[in-house]
Amino acid sequence: MRVIDLIKDNKKTAFSYEILPPLKGTGIGKLHETVEMLKEFDPKYINITTHRSEYVYQDMGNGMFQRNRLRRRPGTVAVAAAIQNKYDITVVPHLLCSGFTKEETEYVLLDLQFLGITDLLVLRGDKAKHESSFVPEEGGYRYALELQEQINNFNKGIFVDGSPIKAVDTPFSYGVACYPEKHEECPNLDTDIYWLKKKVEASAEYAVTQLFYDNQKFFDFVAKAREAGITIPIIPGIKPIKRAAQLSVVPKTFKVDLPEELTKEVMKCKNDEAVKQVGIEWCVAQCKELIAHGLPSIHFYSVAAVDSIKEVAKQIY
Ligand code: FAD
Repeated sequence: MRVIDLIKDNKKTAFSYEILPPLKGTGIGKLHETVEMLKEFDPKYINITTHRSEYVYQDMGNGMFQRNRLRRRPGTVAVAAAIQNKYDITVVPHLLCSGFTKEETEYVLLDLQFLGITDLLVLRGDKAKHESSFVPEEGGYRYALELQEQINNFNKGIFVDGSPIKAVDTPFSYGVACYPEKHEECPNLDTDIYWLKKKVEASAEYAVTQLFYDNQKFFDFVAKAREAGITIPIIPGIKPIKRAAQLSVVPKTFKVDLPEELTKEVMKCKNDEAVKQVGIEWCVAQCKELIAHGLPSIHFYSVAAVDSIKEVAKQIY
């Protein structure tokens, strides 16, 4: 069942979460543990992130360094298929512009089609670590909107070189990203919403937000998006704070503010165990308010926070 149908059919606010493919060489066991831990809360779908390759420098021991291309977290498609097969849960692999050519994307779409995976989250992707700003791959795309066009053409039976696809099975269905506190590169929120509307007009069926800790910012964003004529479901993305260091890491990484009240509570904590409890309580309060507003789904960012999410889910589902 497609994500859009799962969230529309569900009478109560659906539970879903995002996982990362394992670091290269570490195996899939830990991911299975995560899925097992959160199974009891009846996740409607699980997203699997995608990570571009990076350049790393290997010390050759002779004063020389060799530049190698490395994908630290390969395997999105395989992880999606493994989870779908083992747990019979809808999976949503992320598809990126960043680091991929349109031909490589086409092969990923074909693999997904063969595996019967038809839900996607379509994104531009993060910039490479060695770059100061986003640089599209040669033969790739700059914006998620362009990647959407390729998927829409695939759904219509057209390959990137314009040739026909003989067998188009179930078409891909997809969501996109959005940012209640605006995307870092966008000059203002209205412009960001303008581009979100373009993504909706290009067939995005729902949008998932960047994580946030202040519900009012989410509600204001949704109101602005509705005023701009965006009617698709906007799914809040949430992650409980677990460590005091996140007070500076979260704003830097995700370009979001942490509310003063949450910051003060974290600063009062004597250790990270206490911070974890504050994070859980804050997240539960956020979720309760979101559920009271009749949101179709809450999406949890689970990286390094699975145990906290389990606690939150116990209290709200
Ligand atoms: P876009 O929608 O392309 O927007 C990028 C910027 O350009 C915005 O400022 C927008 O306002 C502007 N813009 C959009 N279209 C146009 C246009 N046509 N012309 C001019 N300006 C335009 N990153 C990963 O690498 N892997 C992941 O798995 C991943 N998962 C994510 C999941 C979620 C739910 C979210 C919210 C983010 C995720 N990210 C991931 C991060 C994301 O890739 C980055 O935030 C990226 O910088 C922007 O992606 P986007 O799809 O929103 O880009």
